[in-house]
Amino acid sequence: MYIFKTVNDLQNFIALKRNEGKQIGFVPTMGALHQGHLSLLKVANQQTQISVCSIFVNPKQFDEAEDFDKYPRTTTQDIQLLEENNCTVLFLPTVAEVFPPAIEQDLVQYDFGYLAKPMEGAYRKGHFDGMAKVVKRLLDIVLPDKLFMGQKDYQQFTIVRRLIEITNLQTQLVVCPILREADGLAMSSRNVRLLTDERIRAAEISQTLKWLKLQRNQLTLNDAITKAKTKLNTITGMSLEYLEVVNGRTLTPITNWTNTDAIVACVAVRLGAVRLIDNMIL
Ligand code: AMP
Repeated sequence: MYIFKTVNDLQNFIALKRNEGKQIGFVPTMGALHQGHLSLLKVANQQTQISVCSIFVNPKQFDEAEDFDKYPRTTTQDIQLLEENNCTVLFLPTVAEVFPPAIEQDLVQYDFGYLAKPMEGAYRKGHFDGMAKVVKRLLDIVLPDKLFMGQKDYQQFTIVRRLIEITNLQTQLVVCPILREADGLAMSSRNVRLLTDERIRAAEISQTLKWLKLQRNQLTLNDAITKAKTKLNTITGMSLEYLEVVNGRTLTPITNWTNTDAIVACVAVRLGAVRLIDNMIL
C-alpha cells in the first residue's frame, strides 16, 4: 500500500494510474477503522482498480470541541487493516494540507435546502457545512470515478449526492449497506467509547428500529413512532435526540405507511457520553 501525506504526491500517483486507464475508487473516512469501513473498501476494490482511502478527522464538521478531541485515533492499527484489505493508497494528510490558507478563502458554503435542515442538521450546527467542505475538497483532489459511502450516515450521503449534482462532478456515488455487530448495533468508531453496560444497552437502538419496521400492519405510523420513542427514552442512560421517519430522497417527514416506497427511520441518541446514530429502511 502506498501512503501519501501531501496532495501533490497523491495527485501524481493518481494521474499516472488514470493514464494507464485505471478507474479510481475513493473511500473517505475519519479513521478508527472497523469492518463497516472495510466493507466500503471491499466494494471499491470490486468495482475499481485503484482504491484510495483517506483518513482525516475533519475539525470543520465537529460542533463540539470535546467530541473532536475525544474522537478515537488509531492510525497504526488502521494502516495495518487497510494493508490487509488490499487498499491501494492511503491518503493521510494534515489539516494544513487539506485546508491551506489559500484554499480556505475559496471554500463555498453550499445550499442544500431542506436536506440539511432536519435531524443531524438541527442537532449539529454547522456539521453538514463542514462535511460538505471537506468532501468537496477531497473530491477535487482525488477526482474519483466512484465514491463509496455508507448508508449508516443516511443524511450525509443524501447531501453528498446533492453536492455532486450542484457542482457537476463526474463522480458516481455508491452507497453501501450498514454493517452491524452480532446484536444489531451499527458499527461505529464511537462504539469503543461506550462503557460495558452502555454497550449492552446500545443494541436496543437497532432493535427499536426493527420493531418499528414490523408495525406496518399493526399500528398507524404515528402511533408506532410514539411507542418507539417511549421505548428508547426508557432505556437507562439513554436520551433520545430525534427519531424521524422520512422520505428517503427528500428527508421530509412521512405521516403514514403508504406515503412513499422509500421510508427511512433515522435515530440519534446519547448514551452516557457518546452520541450514536442509526437508520433503517422501513
Ligand atoms: P466515518 O469514518 O465515520 O466518517 O465513516 C466513513 C464512511 O464509512 C462513511 O461513508 C460512513 O457512512 C461509512 N460507515 C461508517 N460506519 C459504517 C457501518 N457500520 N457500515 C457501513 N458503512 C459505515
